[in-house]
Amino acid sequence: MKIIHWFRYDLRITDNPALFAACQKGEVLPIYIFSAEEQKSMGAMSKIWLHHSLKSLNQSLGNKLNIYSGDYKNVLLSLIQKKNIDAIHWNNCYQPFLMRSDNQLKEEFKKKEINYNSFHDYLLWRPWQVQKKDKTPYKVFSHFYYRGCLELEQPRQPIQEKYQLNLLKDDKSKKINDLNLLPKKNWHQKVISHWKVGEQGAKERLNLFLTKDSVEKFPEQLSEQFFNGIFNYKEGRNFPKPFYFKDSGTNSNESNSKDIDKNNDRDNVSKLSPYLHFGEISVNTVWYQSIEYAKKNEVETKNIKHFCSELGWREFSYYLLFHFPHLTEKNLQSKFDAFPWRTKKSDDEIKWQQGKTGFPIVDAGMRQLWQTGYIHNRVRMIVASFLVKNLLIHWKNGESWFWDCLADADIANNYAGWQWIAGCGADSAPYFRIFNCITQGEKFDPQGEYTKYYVPELKDLPIKYLFKPWQAPKEILTTANVELGKNYPYPIVDLKFSRERALECFSNIKLKKN
Ligand code: FAD
Repeated sequence: MKIIHWFRYDLRITDNPALFAACQKGEVLPIYIFSAEEQKSMGAMSKIWLHHSLKSLNQSLGNKLNIYSGDYKNVLLSLIQKKNIDAIHWNNCYQPFLMRSDNQLKEEFKKKEINYNSFHDYLLWRPWQVQKKDKTPYKVFSHFYYRGCLELEQPRQPIQEKYQLNLLKDDKSKKINDLNLLPKKNWHQKVISHWKVGEQGAKERLNLFLTKDSVEKFPEQLSEQFFNGIFNYKEGRNFPKPFYFKDSGTNSNESNSKDIDKNNDRDNVSKLSPYLHFGEISVNTVWYQSIEYAKKNEVETKNIKHFCSELGWREFSYYLLFHFPHLTEKNLQSKFDAFPWRTKKSDDEIKWQQGKTGFPIVDAGMRQLWQTGYIHNRVRMIVASFLVKNLLIHWKNGESWFWDCLADADIANNYAGWQWIAGCGADSAPYFRIFNCITQGEKFDPQGEYTKYYVPELKDLPIKYLFKPWQAPKEILTTANVELGKNYPYPIVDLKFSRERALECFSNIKLKKN
């Protein structure tokens, strides 16, 4: 038998249910189709990641990944005809446009009596499986996860068997470079050099997260806060760390040969989000491997439970998108439709994007995003709250900047994250909870390591003033070589005033509603 395995958001070989089943049936034509829709909608950083991910997958497949672009249906029907294909396999995705397109394809295949087989993947639980007793969807995360997901059957165990890859190559397929995923200017090399893209990189990331090694390497930092990875996940996940990387010093176009800088990586978070997004590792592998590791290595229950619940948030985002597809268009809580957010691009928004707001922790986060394609979750919340609450700029503006710059830009997580922060989403942070970017910095970057790394202009400023340089006495600024308004900006907004303004806008929409 000849079977197409259609790779989509499952760019891996290990624990790939559709590929595994295809391999058991016969010869496999592994394909990837880049659609016009994705060409239009995918952010710049995602395209860069995809380029490297496809290269890595192609290498693992012995250069037999077949690349196409265009309409899914046309490409598939033409391949079936030209290559005498007996069946098509793919793993399900839960992005709305892919679900719509899959339904249409299935109709077409049924009409034309083409064999197809689609497999559950990408999420631990199918969004329609998780239901309240009254059959309406959950809107509160804790109920969704603890009463909904965890009460259901356990997620699928990862596939353990090795599979024989008997692969076919279409000589007429395109090259990965033909997809033109990389920007013309080569700024992308530096950004991607922070990552080892692809399945192997994903495995290494997970292993690094599930290891105590770094703790042993940094005995001087054995305070709880600095425990690496899963061992102090629950508390440690709140403390951002710089994203150190090894600069290979080469000008290679393919910067994907890099090792993760294990010696410097002391993060308590996994940084698995882009790998999960592109399916370079299955969420089932992450779930079970972490639980297994925790059992064998005396990881405290609170840490492993919390990590699993974060994977649960990923499930919740997709669940919300499935049940409330207008999440990408409208405020989930309609009373926010009357909120006077600014939508027109302003200088404030540009300064936020560039990391020049004058608030060091916000600037550090926005520069981390620009330099690495990633922001630590705590800092995502701080920068997002600053944009929508202190600057009153619409969450959609922030969402689209993240969409373009994040390596893990994900339709469900990004929209849900922004609506959550803006206060208009499901089970959101209450609107009146406005992150104070001075105290957040002081609390979660107590030594200023993260902020000073991304805002080196302030590296000599004493910690007392690091998060509010405008309050530092002149002589302290001079000694630290900080010239406000020259080499570091004055704050673009007054925190107290902007907080009160946001609260007033909120009480106005509450009044309107009542
Ligand atoms: P870890 O703490 O190691 O968590 C493990 C995994 O759990 C993550 O890789 C991710 O898949 C999932 N996860 C963790 N936290 C969340 C969360 N709050 N919501 C959903 N899933 C979560 N995440 C994205 O993957 N893509 C996005 O586009 C995205 N946009 C966001 C926008 C805003 C405004 C906010 C506040 C959050 C956003 N998040 C997004 C969620 C979260 O910030 C990232 O998933 C997390 O920081 C990724 O880092 P990590 O892999 O080290 O996380």
